[in-house]
Amino acid sequence: MSLVNTIDLLRHAEEHSYAIGAFNVVSLEFLNGILEAAEEMRSPVILNIAEVHFDYVEIEEIYPAIKYMADKACVPVVLNLDHGMSIETVVRALRCGFSAVMYDASKKPLDQNIEETRLVVKMAHSVGVSVEAELGRVGGAEGGERAAKARREFFTNPDEAERFVRETGIDALAVSVGNVHGFYAGEPELDFGLIAELKKRTNIPLVLHGGSGISDNDFRKAISLGMRKVNFFTEMSKIATDRVREMLASSDHCFIQDLLKEAQATIKEVVMDRMKVFGSAQACALPGNICPTGGTCSSCTICNTNTTQKKPVLQPQPVKEQQISQTELSDIVSRVVSDILKRNG
Ligand SMILES: [Zn+2]
Repeated sequence: MSLVNTIDLLRHAEEHSYAIGAFNVVSLEFLNGILEAAEEMRSPVILNIAEVHFDYVEIEEIYPAIKYMADKACVPVVLNLDHGMSIETVVRALRCGFSAVMYDASKKPLDQNIEETRLVVKMAHSVGVSVEAELGRVGGAEGGERAAKARREFFTNPDEAERFVRETGIDALAVSVGNVHGFYAGEPELDFGLIAELKKRTNIPLVLHGGSGISDNDFRKAISLGMRKVNFFTEMSKIATDRVREMLASSDHCFIQDLLKEAQATIKEVVMDRMKVFGSAQACALPGNICPTGGTCSSCTICNTNTTQKKPVLQPQPVKEQQISQTELSDIVSRVVSDILKRNG
């Protein structure tokens, strides 16, 4: 199946009250480990490529591998730009073939965040790509080594969230509710009352960034209140690193390819475990079938063990097409040019 956007998947997650894991890819070992886990769990999956990881992974370089693997996969796969920081990066991801983008202007003033996000939504929806954006500020750094603590003054404000969703037309909202990227300093304290309030006011799928370090019980509670996508990376990377370290310590005869293989197997285990906690394991078998083959996949042993129940395949709905006006188009172009000029000093 080719790559899909998040809209139908998040709707399915909403109907069945689970969350879809979004796992960052920084090498082929991550890509393979995550996809093997998704297939074994029969779970939809979101592959994140974060702009802060562009030093590790060139998107144009890894895209063909991701597309090839997604086409072969018997579960729905989303390729998502994680924390796109400029319109230029979003355009680059769209040109590359990403099926979802997250645009993050959360550090900018509200009006500017709304204006830029709205433009991204118009642009992405016009080519069938879904959009997530962030309001409030999720602190810490993706995969960062320094632990961080959430600051209440940066929590998402429900009034602003309602306006933000209404005026931008986004498909999912990343919120700040006590979560931080990377490791937590002390115990994470999610504000469950705020999650419920944000869900009620916005009525769209909510996204929890900074999943590493949150307890299984807190995940389950946050998901029961409306979190439909969970970003998870730092802990997965840390556990794979620890495993490689153990291997190095226990043997004098380790080759790099053995270490990479072990890292991939560890990533797979971690992702499978998270999918169980997020409730997305076996989601392909739930009513409103999202399995790309409707359980009739001929190339996949997992589907073939369970072909008694052949259900119609959910037809992915294209996003509502939006026309871009000439003015908006020139606005996009001038912003991209200014992003490039800024980057080049
Ligand atoms: Zn994030």
